[in-house]
Amino acid sequence: MNIDDAYQSIANAVTAGRNAHAYLVCGSQQDCSSFAGRLLLFLLCESASERPCGKCKACASVPGRSHPDITWLYPKGKGRVISVDDVRNTIKTLQQTSFGGSWKVCVVTDAESMNQSSANAFLKTLEEPGGKTVILLLSSKPEFLLPTIKSRCQMVSLLSGEQISPTEWNEKLYGLLADDAYRTRQSGKGAGSVLKALAISGSIAAIFADVKEWASDNAEKELKWIQDQMTRDAEESDDFDELLDAAATAKMKGIRSQLVKNLELWHRDILMLVLGAPAEVLYHVEHIEVLKERASLLSAKAALHNVEQIELLNRYFDRNLNNDEALRYVMPQLA
Ligand SMILES: [Zn+2]
Repeated sequence: MNIDDAYQSIANAVTAGRNAHAYLVCGSQQDCSSFAGRLLLFLLCESASERPCGKCKACASVPGRSHPDITWLYPKGKGRVISVDDVRNTIKTLQQTSFGGSWKVCVVTDAESMNQSSANAFLKTLEEPGGKTVILLLSSKPEFLLPTIKSRCQMVSLLSGEQISPTEWNEKLYGLLADDAYRTRQSGKGAGSVLKALAISGSIAAIFADVKEWASDNAEKELKWIQDQMTRDAEESDDFDELLDAAATAKMKGIRSQLVKNLELWHRDILMLVLGAPAEVLYHVEHIEVLKERASLLSAKAALHNVEQIELLNRYFDRNLNNDEALRYVMPQLA
């Protein structure tokens, strides 16, 4: 949905008194912010007729984030986590009566940064914030949100159809994992099997290379946008390239770590099956047939070894070993 349509439909719901207590807004950071900005103005504007009027006190203070009826919750510190203490303070603030006598709004940015305990502390408030309260959770990585959070919010997706999502690469990865080459490798031995392993690591490296290219295009667009929004007086920033590089690397790493996580979960599923666990505990239950077949070829020790190898791959990436090298080292070690 585009921002205009999403905004209009929620504004209509508010006017009709049918709005949800909590909305999960998914999209790029700038789309989420501009959507939240418009909705905040709409909710808090003091005008009785057209909202936002652009003239009242609320309209003046919302853009500067200084409106007393807006509570911000966002990740802090080195770990970039939304802490349980911050959640509890936010809940207390939301329980107080509003200053303007109208809506109270809580905006949670990077909502996926809530950990298990902060999410748990927030659940009841998400369900029943009480009074005239709206909670807006913004997330550019909704795939990392805990299901308990997602299920309590009405979803607003600002992701456009043509935008590439990590799902596409995940599909490629699963295609590769389900491919015969990956299986033959697991049951094979000797030089031919090492060659196959190298071919597989080449294919995974190709997916990562794709991700990298996308990340740097996407980061460039975003950064240009941010610079356009910032002060107009400054001339073109000298460190644009540096910023771009950092942003692209961060994006690439984010998606890569999700892909590696899935690779790890794939091998964990095989291990679970080897250990006799029921299908219900599998992460990739839709691939149950392939997983069962793989499991039938492996001992528990070998299946565990594979999980450990993928963990090792993750550690290599953490230490900034390049994609090709890390894969070429790890993939031939898989049993
Ligand atoms: Zn106004």
